[in-house]
Amino acid sequence: MNLIILGPPGAGKGTQCERLVETFGLVQLSTGDMLRAEVTSGSELGKKAKILIDAGNLVPDDLIIAMISSQIDRPSTENGFILDGFPRTTAQANALHKMLSEKSLKIDHVIQLAVDEEIIVSRLSGRFSCAKCHAGYHDIFKKPNKDGICDKCGAQEFLRRSDDKPETVRSRLRAYREQTAPILPFYDEKGVLKVVDGMGSMEDVYNTVREIILNG
Ligand code: AMP
Repeated sequence: MNLIILGPPGAGKGTQCERLVETFGLVQLSTGDMLRAEVTSGSELGKKAKILIDAGNLVPDDLIIAMISSQIDRPSTENGFILDGFPRTTAQANALHKMLSEKSLKIDHVIQLAVDEEIIVSRLSGRFSCAKCHAGYHDIFKKPNKDGICDKCGAQEFLRRSDDKPETVRSRLRAYREQTAPILPFYDEKGVLKVVDGMGSMEDVYNTVREIILNG
């Protein structure tokens, strides 16, 4: 089974993906994570991407399409994959469609997490993650059980994303509205778009998504 999870920054895509990976054995393909790995490695692509990411702008389509194409081809995606943060533009959606038809693959569900944009800025500015195992936390909604210690691996170092600053979040929301939201009708016409209220608890959102996957 192959899924796309869509929604503005801060909608909880990453958190839901973590659960879906655990339960259904799918591989998460996050273009944001791939780009951050490029930035950390100091590659040419990473240097270019960092400037755009820190400004809250999108990275050019051709770079993203090449990156995702090589990932979909990997044997680890045999059980299926979840695309997280891709496609984000009409050109990317068209390229994905073409790429999948050539490989005789298809997207079974596109899950759109619908959230109130007003609260996204506060949601994002409070989030941080474990520097070692990448478990996600939040200053208000999901603190570690023991202050300063990761619940999952015990590490004591945490990271905050440089693009979670309020002014960058506003640019990212604009990019979503102007460039990503227009691809939703494309999936709606194909009958695979499922809109889920992303404002509930993580557990409620997950149960709704799980139900869609199991029962269509
Ligand atoms: P994310 O972790 O999905 O919020 O992505 C972080 C940033 O990486 C975005 O704000 C964009 O600058 C860049 N990015 C991630 N995925 C894409 C994509 N599919 N197309 C263009 N830029 C992307």
